[in-house]
Amino acid sequence: LVSRRHKSEDTIIRVKDVEFGGTLHVMIAGPCSIESRDQLLTVAAALKNAGVTVLRGGAFKPRSSPYDFQGLGVEGLKIMKEVADETGMVTISEIMSASQIDTLALYVDIFQIGARNMQNFELLKAVGQTGKPVLLKRGLSATLEEFILAAEYILYSGNTQVMLIERGIRTFEKWTRNTLDIAAIPLLKQETHLPVLVDVSHSTGRKDILLPCAKAALAAGADGIMVEVHPNPRVALSDAKQQIDIDEFHTFWNGLQDSGLFV
Ligand code: PEP
Ligand code: MN
Repeated sequence: LVSRRHKSEDTIIRVKDVEFGGTLHVMIAGPCSIESRDQLLTVAAALKNAGVTVLRGGAFKPRSSPYDFQGLGVEGLKIMKEVADETGMVTISEIMSASQIDTLALYVDIFQIGARNMQNFELLKAVGQTGKPVLLKRGLSATLEEFILAAEYILYSGNTQVMLIERGIRTFEKWTRNTLDIAAIPLLKQETHLPVLVDVSHSTGRKDILLPCAKAALAAGADGIMVEVHPNPRVALSDAKQQIDIDEFHTFWNGLQDSGLFV
């Protein structure tokens, strides 16, 4: 069902006035985790002002350690809804279990399935039975075949509104948190009709090469970019090292606009 052989024309996913996979690129930005109303509103207002249409932020966080911040849960989702109502932005937040579907559906526009849950087949089937758009992240060690088959589960369960996001894979390289697989972009665009995005924050795990990586992603055919932005990354409760602040976002954003690659 995800294959170009099954459907040759690009799938365009419309959420409010945003189109994923259409002629325009989409920027998804926002903090790793929703931490407070003040934190989310500060960053959302700045992003909205800059022209960003989609706000990200995790409320249920898949942390490597059980001792790390696990997210604000429903309280975080309520904050996201309030901020969305105030700014008019489209929102996206991670879902970790099928039991969270009804709650998440009340507060956010798009479900994100994280890298660690890419092969949580029961979750894939469950979101496949909803009418909500899904952003599916590539697993930490998933081949493209496995990635595409994970998306297939969602479509097979009845939901055609699926977009794929390359977020880096594990390799021996230590200078980046993960290895951004640029070749995945043209391959996923060739093999599937789904929108393909690139998360430059989780793939690199660093702030200093976001712009060249985003440019490379767009040059390779990506439909959009995801980047983590926090009002004060030094005190961020998750992914403090890789989140950029609002000034750094402006530099990144202006660089992308100047490149002519982000349209
Ligand atoms: C995230 O985007 O918040 C996240 C946890 O990313 P990933 O699932 O790609 O690690
Ligand atoms: Mn993160």
